[in-house]
Amino acid sequence: MNDATSRYPHLFQPLDLGFTSLKNRILMGSMHTGLEEEKDGFHRMAEYYGQRAAGGVGLIVTGGVAPNRAGWVAPFSLRLHSSTQLPNHRLITDRVHNEGGKICMQILHSGRYGYHPLCVAPSRLKAPVNRFRPWALSEKGIRSTIDDFTQCALLARESGYDGVEVMGSEGYLINEFIAQKTNKREDDWGGSFENRIRFPLEIVRSIREKAGQDFIIIYRLSMLDLVKDGSTWDEVVLLAKEIEKVGATIINTGIGWHEARVPTIATMVPRAGFTWVTKRMMGEVNIPLVTTNRINMPEVAEKALAEGCADMVSMARPFLADPDWVVKAATGRDAEINTCIGCNQACLDHIFKRKSATCLVNPRACRETEIPFTPAEITKKVAVVGAGPAGMACAVTAAARGHQVTLFEANDQLGGQFLLARNIPGKDEFSETLRYYRHEIERHGVDLRIGYRATKDDLSDYDEIVMASGVVPRNVSIPGAELNHVVLYSDVLTGAETVGDRVAVIGAGGIGFDMAAFLLHQESNQDPISEFLSEWGVDREYTQRGGLRVPLIPAAPREVHLFQRKKTKPGANLGKTTGWIHRLELKKNGVKFWTGVEYLSIDENGLWISQNNEDRLVAVDSIVICAGQESELSLANELEEAGIAYHIIGGAKEAAELDAQRAIAQGTEVADSL
Ligand code: FAD
Ligand code: NAP
Ligand code: SF4
Repeated sequence: MNDATSRYPHLFQPLDLGFTSLKNRILMGSMHTGLEEEKDGFHRMAEYYGQRAAGGVGLIVTGGVAPNRAGWVAPFSLRLHSSTQLPNHRLITDRVHNEGGKICMQILHSGRYGYHPLCVAPSRLKAPVNRFRPWALSEKGIRSTIDDFTQCALLARESGYDGVEVMGSEGYLINEFIAQKTNKREDDWGGSFENRIRFPLEIVRSIREKAGQDFIIIYRLSMLDLVKDGSTWDEVVLLAKEIEKVGATIINTGIGWHEARVPTIATMVPRAGFTWVTKRMMGEVNIPLVTTNRINMPEVAEKALAEGCADMVSMARPFLADPDWVVKAATGRDAEINTCIGCNQACLDHIFKRKSATCLVNPRACRETEIPFTPAEITKKVAVVGAGPAGMACAVTAAARGHQVTLFEANDQLGGQFLLARNIPGKDEFSETLRYYRHEIERHGVDLRIGYRATKDDLSDYDEIVMASGVVPRNVSIPGAELNHVVLYSDVLTGAETVGDRVAVIGAGGIGFDMAAFLLHQESNQDPISEFLSEWGVDREYTQRGGLRVPLIPAAPREVHLFQRKKTKPGANLGKTTGWIHRLELKKNGVKFWTGVEYLSIDENGLWISQNNEDRLVAVDSIVICAGQESELSLANELEEAGIAYHIIGGAKEAAELDAQRAIAQGTEVADSL
């Protein structure tokens, strides 16, 4: 037994696929990065995937590649249809193979989710998340789509990929054929279950026949649709058995359609919250099964395998956060893993904004060629003031590059605002970022002066000074704001202040939403996964098609009112892929949203506002101020006055629209420039 298998015996077990074998049970799941469509994208992807292969991933699956134009996710997204494209793909496959890795290309036909007027589906039914209504495929169109899938797989093989993943889940074209919800056809491709699964079976059969036996075919099967009129469990099992018969090598798990109103990967989904789904399938087929969703640390992955949930685990975002995840786990360096916190802010939210993905905790992700790590040419003495996300990122990067770094932190703990953020229900993953930085600060020998507020005099002996003094909560100037029942969010989150049964939250930004969730949270004895599934209406028994049931929401512990002056939708600036979850969560808990208000005054009875030219009292016991932040600049101003040069990053540089992504990216950039 080697070091890795003694530590994680299941995770580091090779997997024999007959004609080939994988060195461990870790699959890097498919994820669109946006590099696919960028200038020089293939070189950049080669470096991105190459680093993950060098980091020890057992099998990589690329982002989705369309088999034809109708299958584009968006106009001109990547498709593979001609041998002229092979040299580009070979940049990726050669690089991965040179690092000792294996890579499959995902074939994704977006079906009615295609964001363009050419999109097609089994029936002409518009998806609720798309403004384009699809064209219904003709029988001839179905046949030619199957040919396009096959041709795409053959070209992938010629490009050097070790196999393909056929994307059959998440509500894309194949899934649309399978589900009654979206397949209303009356020909051989619709109606009975047998007819509805003909399309995926023909695709896999055809690829296997033409590509040969020594080619990996992963089929991503939607095991839990989470939409009304989705598949029953019996149908899911039957499809898996048929997929095995027509030649798939591995079955991967898909959870939830994109239009499902149940969170499936966001940070508030408990770790390994859906591995039970794959576990139900174990023993039904004889080919390896992969489980997925919110697996982000080695012990979570090992536990899923040890408990017999699957033969392999898939992780996608954790490899954006840390390309060396596998080698670190294998060599007992788990504490060095930069953990994916499931925020979606820099990965999926970027993709929705048509920007290439990166990672909040790892700004080098997908920028490997643009901002490579380089050791410093001259060692400098660097002072970093403030150990919030910006300061920690700066100190660790500068020290890793070889500088001699001192990090000052006024608080008695590292973390800045992340110390508050991790107290929000569903944001406990933020503690992993703190653990990571704590460990890296020590590992790289940063001289940490904790519980010490730096002064101008402390900074006289350094070659470079970086101000990362962050932000302080903004107070409001409403008459009565000085009363005892008016408190700042920071004091509520640290427990310095308590609130009553009826609470007004002033400010409906990210922190106002988080505060409302905090105020509504109740401790429970239930295990977190059961509690999550019950509150979001997921039925482990699949009593109804799609695995949904009526959510069971406990009575809210208090009355919460959320206010903003703008007339726009509350939480309009929350992330595209998570904002809907936060809004729905608060709505389900009876939060009253107030928009377009003017704050008049506060007295012992509550908050006086004017809305639509009408003055009124909202009777509450406590008022929590979440009115944004201001930069903490007292020391920076002193340096300025004394003519001392410094760099400035994170919230200290600009408080407006600050988030941790910007803070960490700026910390890293400045450290790279020293
Ligand atoms: P800060 O975090 O403010 O850190 C500054 C540090 O400097 C502090 O620790 C302070 O004590 C120290 N300091 C100041 N002056 C001195 C001095 N003279 N000497 C020594 N030390 C000094 N962002 C997201 O991206 N996603 C989220 O989901 C998210 N959720 C949040 C939830 C909550 C409840 C809160 C409060 C914030 C959340 N944020 C989130 C925002 C995020 O935490 C901030 O954007 C980030 O912390 C800013 O980092 P920073 O390093 O610039 O400043
Ligand atoms: P924010 O998003 O800018 O929201 C500030 C809120 O305060 C707004 O609703 C604003 O609404 C109100 N406000 C501003 N000035 C005010 C004043 N003088 N009096 C009364 N109300 C005032 O800031 P935040 O909520 O503090 O969040 C800070 C950052 O952390 C955000 O930029 C966000 O990116 C990040 N964060 C993200 C998440 C996440 O889930 N992704 C969660 C938490 C925080 P009106 O001006 O309309 O009244
Ligand atoms: Fe994970 Fe957030 Fe990074 Fe995406 S941006 S990979 S969710 S930490």
